[in-house]
Parts: sequence; C-alpha cells; structure tokens
Amino acid sequence: MSTGQHKPLVDGFGRHITYLRLSLTDRCDLRCTYCMPERMTFLPRAEVLTLEEAHRIALAFIDRGVTKIRLTGGEPLVRRDMIDLVRALGRRIGDGLEELTLTTNGTQLADFADDLAAAGVRRVNVSLDTLDRTTFERLARRDRLDAVLQGIAAARDAGLKIKLNTVALKGVNEQDIPAMVEWAHGQGHDMTLIEVMPLGEVDGERIDHYLPLDAVRRDLEARWTLTPSGHRTGGPSRYVNVAETGGRLGFITPLTGNFCDGCNRVRLTATGQLYACLGGREQVDLRAAVRSADPDGAVAQALDTAMAIKPERHHFAIRKAGEAPALARHMSVTGG
Ligand code: SAM
Ligand code: SF4
Repeated sequence: MSTGQHKPLVDGFGRHITYLRLSLTDRCDLRCTYCMPERMTFLPRAEVLTLEEAHRIALAFIDRGVTKIRLTGGEPLVRRDMIDLVRALGRRIGDGLEELTLTTNGTQLADFADDLAAAGVRRVNVSLDTLDRTTFERLARRDRLDAVLQGIAAARDAGLKIKLNTVALKGVNEQDIPAMVEWAHGQGHDMTLIEVMPLGEVDGERIDHYLPLDAVRRDLEARWTLTPSGHRTGGPSRYVNVAETGGRLGFITPLTGNFCDGCNRVRLTATGQLYACLGGREQVDLRAAVRSADPDGAVAQALDTAMAIKPERHHFAIRKAGEAPALARHMSVTGG
C-alpha cells in the first residue's frame, strides 16, 4: 500500500474532510413532494454499489481521516441487508471512526432501532415535516405518519438520540412549526429547520413553497426568547436555545446564508459517484475505482482528485416557476 492511502483529506481551500455522507439507495417508500415526483424512475440495481463495495470505500475514507459517516438515501432503511453494513462499520467505531449515524424518514425505524443501537449507532436524524396526518399524507404522498411516530418512539426507547429535520414550506407546514418545536422539545429531541433547496425536477413548483428561514425565525422570536447557542455539530446548522421550551433549534439556510466556509464533508451517491459539494457538479467515480483491477490504489487516487476539485462554495438559487432546477439531480441521489 502506498503512503498516499493514509494521508488526510484536505481540499484546495485547506478544509479537512472528516465527514462522509453515504447514500445506500435512491429508493424510498415515501414521495415527499419537494424531493421526488410520484413516478420517480429509480436506478437499475446493477448501477448501485453493492454493500461490500460501499464498505470498502467507507474503509478507505476512514483510513484517510474520515471520523463521521452518515448513511442516507433515498431511504437507507429500505435497502435490504443494510444492517449488515451498519454492523461492519460499527466495528470501526473507536478505531478511526468516531460516529456512525443515519438520516431516515422513520417509517421503518421501529423495526431497526434496537439493531442500530446494538451496532453502535448513538444518534439518528429523522425527517418529519408535520405532525398533522392530512398534511403528512399530502406532503409525503403516503399515509405513514403513525409509522414514523412509532419509529421515533422506538428509537428513543432503544436509547438513540434523535434530531428532527423539518423542511419549512410556505403554505404547507408553515403554521405547524411552533407546535412542532414544542412537541420535539417536549420529547427531548433537538430540531432543525431546513430551507427547501432547488434540486431535481419535482411535480410542483418549488418556488411556490420556498420559505426563507429568516422570516420563520422572526416569527418565532416574536413568540419565544431565542438565544444563540454555541452548540455545533460540525455541520451547517446554526443553533439557538429556546427559553420557553428548554430545547435547541437549528437553522440550515443554504439559500439565505452561506454555509460553505467550514465545509468538512463530501457525499457518495448510491452509484458510487463522489460529489465534492452538495450544490456543485464536481464529482469522481468511485464505483469505477472500486471495480478496477487495483481498487485500493484507484480509490486513493480518486480521493486525491476529489480534494483537488472541491469547490469553494455552492451556487444554489431558487429559480422562478418554469425555469430548470439549479441542479437536475434529486436530493435522493446525493442524500441530502
Ligand atoms: N429518506 C431520508 C429522509 O427523508 O430523511 C434520507 C434522505 S432525504 C433526501 C434527506 C433530507 O433531505 C430529508 O430531511 C429531506 O427532508 C431533505 N430534502 C429532500 N429534498 C430536499 C430539498 N429539495 N430541499 C431541502 N431538503 C430536502
Ligand atoms: Fe424519501 Fe427522504 Fe426524499 Fe422524502 S425526503 S421522498 S423520505 S428520500
């Protein structure tokens, strides 16, 4: 093995890459309107990395100094046998890896919470945009709110720390946000609000639902006492403490605030394309590398290329109705 396989991942702007988001599948059991169309075309299975390939690539990242891996998708829990990968990576916790976590829609969490906890997962992000069953069904195009709430309860019972991620959508869940914050904090969960991002063609016009978080924040400030929190997770979320609920609330504002300066992450799609930036087109093909005659050498070389091409910042902007999305790929491809 060449020494290059162990040197840390540092991009051209001096940022150390220590966080990998690894998409296990583009498939999902929900169809959130801002994420994918009802008739989503999913990838042929042969194009998707096998779990063994994903494992090998993940180990290469750990060897290069990645300490945190988040499994995502699509919906990671719908990938058959994904728990085997969780167990395999879990064995590296304390041995290079500091944290293994996942982002899930929660529908299958009741089935997997105990296994995830046993494999070493300590925290999960659960995406939940509303507590209202009708709104949930309208948003996710599936009547699955009860399953999600059961999943969240099971995860808590298994000892997992939960953070709720809520996409703020004008005219959809806007009115529900204060009640959701109260509910989340009442259950002891952190919560983060996310601005809708212009990724992938979806059926509706996303501009109609774009809700800048500075407006949401002003509304919450009129209601509650928000004080900036020093809490950081190494991600783009900026937190406040809410005095009245006693909980923590994060804001991810890709469109109204630049979150790129401290970027420490890269994203691997289910097909093994490594995107250097969520909002950019720069990519390297780790599937070709891992399927080559010299997988370890080729992956190491591809990681060097990724560091060289990682852009300084993203260039998102919400387009007007009728215009193409800023990026044609869906969030379910890069994994959010
Ligand atoms: N299926 C899992 C879930 O929903 O948590 C993991 C993948 S999902 C793509 C990851 C996150 O991306 C979710 O919190 C979802 O709400 C968010 N998301 C999807 N499309 C988005 C968009 N266009 N803008 C902002 N967030 C988006
Ligand atoms: Fe599925 Fe997550 Fe996209 Fe919703 S946001 S459709 S749960 S991948």
